[in-house]
Amino acid sequence: MIKKSRKVRDYKALTKALPSQRYVDPESVYIHLQNGRCKTYELNVTPGQHVKLGEVIGTRFGGFFEQPIHATISGVVGEVSKKFHRTGRKVDCVEIRNDFKDTYHESIVDRPDHIIEEFTQDDFVEIVKSKSLVGLGGSGFPTYIKLATKDKIDTVVINAVECEPYLSSDYRLILEHPGRVITGLKYIMQALGTKKGMIAIKSEKDPLYQVLTQVLNVRFPELDVEVVKLGNHYPQGWEIEMFRWALNIDIPHGVLPMKYGVIGFNVSTAAGVFDAVKHNLPVVKRYFTLTGDAIKFPQNYRVRVGASVRELIKLSDGYKDGLDELLVVMGGPMMGTSMTSDDVIVSKTTTSVIILKNVEYKEEPCVRCGSCVYSCPVRIEPVQIMNAVKRNDKEVMKGLEAFKCIECGLCTYVCTSKIHVTDYVRKAKKLIG
Ligand code: SF4
Ligand code: SF4
Repeated sequence: MIKKSRKVRDYKALTKALPSQRYVDPESVYIHLQNGRCKTYELNVTPGQHVKLGEVIGTRFGGFFEQPIHATISGVVGEVSKKFHRTGRKVDCVEIRNDFKDTYHESIVDRPDHIIEEFTQDDFVEIVKSKSLVGLGGSGFPTYIKLATKDKIDTVVINAVECEPYLSSDYRLILEHPGRVITGLKYIMQALGTKKGMIAIKSEKDPLYQVLTQVLNVRFPELDVEVVKLGNHYPQGWEIEMFRWALNIDIPHGVLPMKYGVIGFNVSTAAGVFDAVKHNLPVVKRYFTLTGDAIKFPQNYRVRVGASVRELIKLSDGYKDGLDELLVVMGGPMMGTSMTSDDVIVSKTTTSVIILKNVEYKEEPCVRCGSCVYSCPVRIEPVQIMNAVKRNDKEVMKGLEAFKCIECGLCTYVCTSKIHVTDYVRKAKKLIG
């Protein structure tokens, strides 16, 4: 039977109704010195040195950009050690031991609104760059590069769809801080000279619709911002799919949305723009979902960047009893990275950690049901790509356009034979470079 499905069970009910809990005073934070985009770094502090919250302690180097590294608490610098990043790799992290004084660096001062109103695109770009803001939905792409576009942007869209199952950190951020998100959008619109804004939410998220429309009407009557409800299917949060539904624009593979007059930012990134511009503050805290059927008390946290997930697990009353083996997923279950260790650190791009009972599924032979083909959002043929990988036939992999895969995980999710089809397509992408 063909299982054509873009619906996935969402499991958000585990956490979305609960207010987020603050966890901003850990004993220590561990600041990632490397990440998925930056392999090298320079650290400008030494063990024993005192640093202030928001102080620049070093620089990360990406392929074509640099990122200042900021202290997310005030305290004393410790040693550099290896910790897991959300990409599943161990990377260098520097410890800062908390002095529990929250002493802000002298540079962290509020800007008056009348100053911000005069800002040009270059001003916004410079601020966002100096605060090292990146796509906080998980992409990690430097925000200043998007903000510096010279393309004419007709519409700025804030992506609040959060279509990955289990995740509800963006949802809580909007409910608890709608003004930060909308003001961030306002600054982005000003930077890009754009008159029209949109906030895209899933159709079912009615509380968000009410909160956002009310705050827009009362506090931002001058803004032309529409809250649009999209479909409730996966991967509705994929930017190209979001633009298709929200604006009826079909953006071809490999073309930047800016070329079509649109640009998208994640909810947390919009709030990050607000913090950077209004308070001159880098990302020192973030909304974070800790959930899964292995956790006694799944919930959202407003957490200090660099905090240990093990500490958060303790705050969530630990693990349920009688579990033999755990599966730790960094990010969403569809697109995230699976690991076996919970010794992970919340980086600024870590949206969530999901901890599940590990259930081994036995793969069975492909029954050629076609479910993966009918479900694929980019309309390629995962099963044929898998067969080409097994034969190591790179020409066929190219011909089948494996490079278009967005690694949404849907082909694995729907597979009748429980085959990890996405892994094969991911491998094909690597093989054809
Ligand atoms: S081939 Fe890629 S894009 Fe298509 S369903 Fe599988 S993971 Fe998603
Ligand atoms: S790989 Fe799975 S979903 Fe795709 S055709 Fe084979 S059995 Fe069906």
